[in-house]
Amino acid sequence: MRPFLGILSLALVLGALAPGAGANPRDVTRGPGARRLPHGSRSVGLPFDGRLRRAVELRESRYVRRVTEYAPNGNFYGTWELVQLIERAAYRVERRLPGAKLSVGELSAEEGGRLPGHASHQNGRDVDIAFYMLDGRGDPYPPGAFAAFDANGRGLAPNEGLTFDDARNWELIAKLVADGDARVQYAFVARHLKQRLLREGRRRGAPASVLERAERVMVQPATGHQHANHFHVRIYCAPADRPTCRDQGPRHPWYPR
Ligand SMILES: [Zn+2]
Repeated sequence: MRPFLGILSLALVLGALAPGAGANPRDVTRGPGARRLPHGSRSVGLPFDGRLRRAVELRESRYVRRVTEYAPNGNFYGTWELVQLIERAAYRVERRLPGAKLSVGELSAEEGGRLPGHASHQNGRDVDIAFYMLDGRGDPYPPGAFAAFDANGRGLAPNEGLTFDDARNWELIAKLVADGDARVQYAFVARHLKQRLLREGRRRGAPASVLERAERVMVQPATGHQHANHFHVRIYCAPADRPTCRDQGPRHPWYPR
């Protein structure tokens, strides 16, 4: 047994013996392998009035990249559950349809709170994700900024040469809605792209349960940004973060109990 695991076991035992002593046995944020272990991140308050404690940073990897425009701001912090969900989804799309990374825009600031350009994104449960897109030759295109698409899947100016990648975007949504550990409340996306995605899901023979979840989760906001150039995904509070973390809006049948 490596020394680190010995210390971990001791910490777990002490945590179990001293409930309420302030030590959180899940809060394993240091030492080798720490990123692979459950994290003590905490989402506080509401997505549009909240904070984030002991945040986890979403890093670039073989499967994930940061959208160039947002990279310098460094707002890539989320709850452990959200960061893990993004990594699982990116991995799954790459395994099924190799050749493209998931391009992420902003999550939250390291300690949460107001983030310029967003009403929400305040407590580590929101992420903006660029659409998967293809260039003129049909190859995956890693965007430097979000690009908007019309109902035919064609890029709008100045991105007329790009195409909405139906297959990968559907695989992404299918994974997000079916994930058992982080439950998705919303995937904001424009109505005309939602219809494309559901059509693609049916074409690919997706299970009815996945199609039904996708139908409920994908929403074009009634006011404000139409979301024709990116997905905005929000997950519910993790049960361990409640009641300090608060959910507002629809509680789907998969709301975590
Ligand atoms: Zn957003």
